[in-house]
Amino acid sequence: MAFKELYEKVKQYNPHSEEERLKNAYEFAKKCHEGQFRNSGEPYFIHPVAVAMILTDIHMDDDTIIGGLLHDVLEDTEVIFDDIAMLFGEDVAQLVEGVTKLKKIKYKTKQESQSENLRKMVLAMSQDIRVVIIKLADRLHNMRTLEYMTRTKQIEKAQETIQIYAPLAHRLGISTIKWELEDLSLRYLEPQEYYDIVNKIKDTRTQREDFIQRIIRVLRKELDKMHIPADIVGRPKSICSIYKKMKKQNKSFEEIYDLSAMRIIVNTTADCYAALGAVHALWKPIPGRVKDYIAMPKPNLYQSLHTTVIDRRGEVFEVQIRTHEMHKTAEYGIAAHWKYKEGDSKMSNFDEKLTWLRQLMDWQQELSDPREFIETVKEEFTTDEVFVFSPKGDVIDLPEGSTPIDFAYRVHSAVGNHCVGAKVDGRIVPLTHKLHTGNIVEILTSSNSTGPSKDWLNIVKSSSAKTKIRQFFKKERKSQNIVLGKDMLEKAVAKEGYGFNEMLKEDWLDEVAEKMSFNSVEDLYAAIGYGSTKVTQVIPKLRELHDDYYKTDKAVEKTAPRQQELRRTSENGILIKGVDNIQIKIANCCNPVPGDDIIGYITRGRGITVHRHDCSNVRNVGEERLIPVYWDDDGKTTYNVRLRIVAFDRVGYLANVTEVVQEEELNLISVNAKREKDKSFVVILTVEITNTEQIRSLMEELKNIKGTLDVYRVKA
Ligand code: MN
Repeated sequence: MAFKELYEKVKQYNPHSEEERLKNAYEFAKKCHEGQFRNSGEPYFIHPVAVAMILTDIHMDDDTIIGGLLHDVLEDTEVIFDDIAMLFGEDVAQLVEGVTKLKKIKYKTKQESQSENLRKMVLAMSQDIRVVIIKLADRLHNMRTLEYMTRTKQIEKAQETIQIYAPLAHRLGISTIKWELEDLSLRYLEPQEYYDIVNKIKDTRTQREDFIQRIIRVLRKELDKMHIPADIVGRPKSICSIYKKMKKQNKSFEEIYDLSAMRIIVNTTADCYAALGAVHALWKPIPGRVKDYIAMPKPNLYQSLHTTVIDRRGEVFEVQIRTHEMHKTAEYGIAAHWKYKEGDSKMSNFDEKLTWLRQLMDWQQELSDPREFIETVKEEFTTDEVFVFSPKGDVIDLPEGSTPIDFAYRVHSAVGNHCVGAKVDGRIVPLTHKLHTGNIVEILTSSNSTGPSKDWLNIVKSSSAKTKIRQFFKKERKSQNIVLGKDMLEKAVAKEGYGFNEMLKEDWLDEVAEKMSFNSVEDLYAAIGYGSTKVTQVIPKLRELHDDYYKTDKAVEKTAPRQQELRRTSENGILIKGVDNIQIKIANCCNPVPGDDIIGYITRGRGITVHRHDCSNVRNVGEERLIPVYWDDDGKTTYNVRLRIVAFDRVGYLANVTEVVQEEELNLISVNAKREKDKSFVVILTVEITNTEQIRSLMEELKNIKGTLDVYRVKA
C-alpha cells in the first residue's frame, strides 16, 4: 500500500495533518522492517501500514498514526527509543515504547498472563490512552490475518481477543473495532456456528433488504412531514451479537427477530426526541425497551435513543436515534473526542468523562489479588447498566440487577459497611430489592452497625461491592490469614521434601509475591490463608528459584534456618516446628544423614522417628502421622553412615580405602572386608560424618581407587 492512500484518508478528517512527518515515518518504518516477513509470506511492512490504516478509520491524530507505523520497530529491529524521539518526538517514542511494553510479558498460565496484561493495559491507558488504541488496531490486523497461524495459536489469540481486547474496545466506545474483533474471534472459536450464521444471513438477505427498504420508505415519509432532515439506514447486526442472542435466549437463527437495526441520524438532540415520537406513532413500542442514553450516556460516552417496536405484521425491530455528533462517538468512541487544534491534539474532557477508567485505577491499587482484579474488570466491561440517582441527584451507574447494597458501596465503602436499610423512591425496601433506571436511592446507615453480613455476597451484583465486602472480612481476618497462609505454605514445602531454609528464602518469597502481583509477602500469605490463591500456584515458582539457585552454585553461602520458628529438640540435630521436649530417634531402616530430605513419623507414645523422605516405610503412612522436620546445620552433630564397596580383589586395596577415609578427615567406626566367591572384594565401611557433602566426597574418592567397581550407601 502506498503512502498516498494513507495520507488521503488522514486529510479527509484532519486538516492539520503534517504530510512530511507522516511520510518520513512511513519510509522509516519501511526501511526498519526491510527483509522481514510475516507468516503469510508477505513483507512485514504490510502489517504496520495496515495498523496505521485502521487508526485512520477511527480518525486518530498524526502521532498515533506514526506510533502505529512504528509500533513494532523497538521490538523487532535495531532502533532504540532515542532514535524515535529524535526523529518524531518524545510523544511518539513513548507511544511506541508503551505498545512494546504491553507485549513483553509472557507468563506461564493463561490466567496469569491475562490479568497481568490487563493490569499493564490499565496502566498504559492511564498514561496515554492512545497506546491502547494502537494495541487494539494491532490486534485487529493480527486477527484479520490469523489464518496463517497454527490452530493452537488461533484459539489462544481469539480467546484473549474476546476476553480482553473486544471488551476494551467496547469500553473505549470504539464499536467498529469491537464488532470486528468479536466476529473474527467467533470465527476461530466456533467456526461451525459462525459460518452457519454467515450462510443464513446470506440466504435471508433479499427478504431482509426488502423489509428494511419498506421501513425506510415509511419512516422517510413521516419524518419529511415533520420537517426533520435525517439519514436512515438499516444495519445488519454483527454475527457475534446474533450468536450471543441465540445462546442467551436459547433460540435458533430463525427465531431471532431483530437481525437488523434501523438507525436514524438527525441534526439536533431535539430532533432525536421528535423522531422517537414519530417512530412510536407508526409502530407500537414494546414496553420496557425504550432507552434514553441521551439523557444518561453510557460510561463509554455512547449516546442514543433506543426503542424496539412491532409492526402490523408482527415484525419486531430495533430503532436507534442519534445526532451526527453522537454517531461519531458511537463509532469511534473516545477517539472521536480528540480535538484537532493547531499544533496540538488533546483529548477533550477526557478525564471528567471516563470516570470508569479512574475507578479501574483505584481498584487496581485496592485489589491485592490479581485474580479478583481480572474478574472485576471483566464484569465492569461487559454488563448492562442501570442508572439510579442519589437523593442529591447524582447519577450512579450500576450493573443490571444491582441492589441498594451495591449502591451503598459505590457511594463509599463506609456507607456500605454501615448500611442497615434503604429507601427507593421514598419507600423502605428490603436490601435484596433490584434497582431500576431512574430510581432515587437513599441508604440508611447506623453507626451501631457491626459491618456487612456474609449473605450480602450472594445479594450484591457488582464485583466492586463484592470485593469491598470481602475486603471487610479479609481485613478483619487478615492477620489470622497471614498466619494460616504461612503455615499452609510451609506445610506444602515440607511435603515437597524441602526444608524451610532451603526453599522459603526471604528474597525468593519477595520475588514470587511480586511476580504474582502481590504488594508484599504478607499479602501473598493472606491470599493463601484466605483461599483465593492456592499453594500449588506458589510452589512451582519457588521451586524454580530454588533450582536456579542451586544450579548456579550460589548454594555455598548457606542461609541460617529460621531459628525463631524452629525449636531444637534432643541432640540428634533435628529441628521440629513448634514442638518441645519430644523424643526424637533417627530411623534405623533408612538412616538419614544431614542433607537428606527427611520427614518425621509420629509413633504412638514414643515420640518422633526421622526417616528419609523416600523411605519405603513412610511412603504409605497417613499424612496426619507425618510432621515436617529439618536438619539443624550446626555442624556438631555426628551420624554414622555405612557404605558398601565392591572392588576387584588386589593387594593393598583395603589399605587404600582407609587412607582415603583419613584424607577425608573422617572418623572410621568399623571396616569389614571379605572375598566373595566370584573373586570380587566387598568392603563394608562405617564412618562418622556431620553432613551429606562429606559422604558425597568420600564416595567420590573411593570410586577413584584403582579397582573399585561400585560404592553405595546401605542400611546401618
Ligand atoms: Mn504488531
